[in-house]
Amino acid sequence: MPDNCLFCKIIRGEIPAEKLYEDDDVLAFRDIAPQAPTHFLVIPKKHIKGPEAVQPEDEQVFGKMMRVGNEIAQKEGIPHFRVVFNNGAEAGQTVFHLHMHILGGRALNWPPG
Ligand code: 5GP
Ligand code: ZN
Repeated sequence: MPDNCLFCKIIRGEIPAEKLYEDDDVLAFRDIAPQAPTHFLVIPKKHIKGPEAVQPEDEQVFGKMMRVGNEIAQKEGIPHFRVVFNNGAEAGQTVFHLHMHILGGRALNWPPG
Protein backbone atom coordinates (compact mmCIF):
# COMPACT_ATOMS: atom_id res chain seq x y z
CA MET A 1 0.00 0.00 0.00
CA PRO A 2 1.48 3.36 -0.97
CA ASP A 3 2.34 5.44 2.13
CA ASN A 4 1.15 8.69 0.60
CA CYS A 5 -2.25 7.57 -0.76
CA LEU A 6 -5.09 9.37 1.02
CA PHE A 7 -7.52 6.47 0.79
CA CYS A 8 -4.89 3.94 1.88
CA LYS A 9 -4.43 6.19 4.94
CA ILE A 10 -8.17 6.04 5.61
CA ILE A 11 -8.05 2.23 5.27
CA ARG A 12 -5.18 2.11 7.78
CA GLY A 13 -7.06 4.43 10.16
CA GLU A 14 -4.44 7.18 9.90
CA ILE A 15 -7.07 9.65 8.69
CA PRO A 16 -10.55 9.55 10.21
CA ALA A 17 -13.63 8.90 8.08
CA GLU A 18 -17.29 8.24 8.75
CA LYS A 19 -17.35 4.58 7.84
CA LEU A 20 -20.56 2.98 6.62
CA TYR A 21 -19.31 -0.55 5.90
CA GLU A 22 -16.06 -2.47 6.11
CA ASP A 23 -14.89 -6.02 5.43
CA ASP A 24 -11.64 -7.63 4.29
CA ASP A 25 -12.07 -6.43 0.71
CA VAL A 26 -13.89 -3.10 0.69
CA LEU A 27 -14.53 0.04 2.74
CA ALA A 28 -17.38 2.54 2.39
CA PHE A 29 -17.37 5.99 3.95
CA ARG A 30 -19.07 9.36 3.53
CA ASP A 31 -17.53 11.85 1.15
CA ILE A 32 -15.99 14.80 3.02
CA ALA A 33 -17.48 17.27 0.51
CA PRO A 34 -20.90 15.81 -0.34
CA GLN A 35 -22.36 16.80 -3.71
CA ALA A 36 -25.82 15.51 -2.81
CA PRO A 37 -27.72 14.95 0.48
CA THR A 38 -26.28 11.43 0.51
CA HIS A 39 -22.82 10.97 -1.03
CA PHE A 40 -20.51 8.15 -0.07
CA LEU A 41 -17.56 6.31 -1.56
CA VAL A 42 -16.88 2.58 -1.85
CA ILE A 43 -13.24 1.58 -2.31
CA PRO A 44 -11.28 -1.65 -2.56
CA LYS A 45 -8.76 -2.19 0.22
CA LYS A 46 -6.29 -3.16 -2.46
CA HIS A 47 -4.60 -0.06 -3.90
CA ILE A 48 -5.74 0.21 -7.52
CA LYS A 49 -5.03 3.61 -9.05
CA GLY A 50 -8.30 3.93 -10.90
CA PRO A 51 -10.80 2.30 -13.27
CA GLU A 52 -8.13 1.99 -16.00
CA ALA A 53 -6.00 -0.17 -13.71
CA VAL A 54 -8.66 -2.80 -12.87
CA GLN A 55 -7.26 -6.25 -13.71
CA PRO A 56 -8.99 -9.61 -14.24
CA GLU A 57 -8.13 -10.58 -10.64
CA ASP A 58 -10.02 -7.50 -9.42
CA GLU A 59 -13.32 -8.43 -11.04
CA GLN A 60 -14.73 -10.03 -7.88
CA VAL A 61 -13.98 -7.04 -5.65
CA PHE A 62 -15.29 -4.67 -8.34
CA GLY A 63 -18.63 -6.51 -8.30
CA LYS A 64 -18.63 -6.49 -4.50
CA MET A 65 -18.22 -2.70 -4.51
CA MET A 66 -21.46 -2.42 -6.51
CA ARG A 67 -23.34 -4.92 -4.35
CA VAL A 68 -22.23 -3.25 -1.09
CA GLY A 69 -22.85 0.22 -2.52
CA ASN A 70 -26.42 -0.67 -3.41
CA GLU A 71 -27.09 -2.21 0.01
CA ILE A 72 -25.85 0.97 1.73
CA ALA A 73 -27.92 3.14 -0.62
CA GLN A 74 -31.07 1.19 0.24
CA LYS A 75 -30.30 1.53 3.98
CA GLU A 76 -29.62 5.24 3.55
CA GLY A 77 -33.04 5.68 1.96
CA ILE A 78 -31.89 6.53 -1.57
CA PRO A 79 -33.39 3.78 -3.76
CA HIS A 80 -32.63 6.00 -6.77
CA PHE A 81 -28.99 6.94 -6.94
CA ARG A 82 -26.13 7.72 -9.29
CA VAL A 83 -22.89 5.73 -9.53
CA VAL A 84 -19.77 7.61 -10.70
CA PHE A 85 -16.21 6.54 -11.35
CA ASN A 86 -13.85 9.30 -12.47
CA ASN A 87 -10.87 8.06 -14.48
CA GLY A 88 -8.01 10.51 -14.91
CA ALA A 89 -7.57 14.15 -13.93
CA GLU A 90 -9.45 15.55 -16.91
CA ALA A 91 -12.47 13.45 -15.96
CA GLY A 92 -12.36 14.84 -12.43
CA GLN A 93 -10.31 12.19 -10.64
CA THR A 94 -8.44 13.80 -7.74
CA VAL A 95 -7.66 10.77 -5.57
CA PHE A 96 -5.76 8.04 -7.40
CA HIS A 97 -7.16 5.08 -5.49
CA LEU A 98 -10.17 3.49 -7.20
CA HIS A 99 -13.44 4.72 -5.70
CA MET A 100 -17.10 4.43 -6.58
CA HIS A 101 -19.18 7.52 -5.78
CA ILE A 102 -22.82 6.92 -4.87
CA LEU A 103 -24.99 10.03 -4.78
CA GLY A 104 -28.68 10.50 -4.09
CA GLY A 105 -31.33 12.36 -2.19
CA ARG A 106 -31.92 15.04 -4.82
CA ALA A 107 -32.83 15.15 -8.50
CA LEU A 108 -29.72 14.50 -10.60
CA ASN A 109 -29.36 15.98 -14.05
CA TRP A 110 -28.34 14.06 -17.16
CA PRO A 111 -26.02 14.48 -18.97
CA PRO A 112 -23.56 15.41 -16.23
CA GLY A 113 -21.49 18.58 -16.68
P1 5GP B 1 -12.61 12.08 -7.32
O1 5GP B 1 -12.66 13.56 -7.57
O2 5GP B 1 -11.18 11.57 -7.29
O3 5GP B 1 -13.49 11.26 -8.19
O4 5GP B 1 -13.22 11.88 -5.87
C1 5GP B 1 -12.48 12.03 -4.71
C2 5GP B 1 -13.49 12.30 -3.61
O5 5GP B 1 -12.83 12.14 -2.36
C3 5GP B 1 -14.05 13.72 -3.64
O6 5GP B 1 -15.46 13.66 -3.78
C4 5GP B 1 -13.61 14.30 -2.31
O7 5GP B 1 -14.59 15.14 -1.73
C5 5GP B 1 -13.35 13.08 -1.47
N1 5GP B 1 -12.34 13.27 -0.44
C6 5GP B 1 -11.13 13.89 -0.59
N2 5GP B 1 -10.45 13.86 0.57
C7 5GP B 1 -11.24 13.20 1.46
C8 5GP B 1 -11.06 12.86 2.84
O8 5GP B 1 -10.04 13.15 3.48
N3 5GP B 1 -12.08 12.19 3.42
C9 5GP B 1 -13.23 11.86 2.77
N4 5GP B 1 -14.17 11.20 3.46
N5 5GP B 1 -13.41 12.14 1.45
C10 5GP B 1 -12.43 12.82 0.82
ZN1 ZN C 1 -4.40 3.74 -2.06
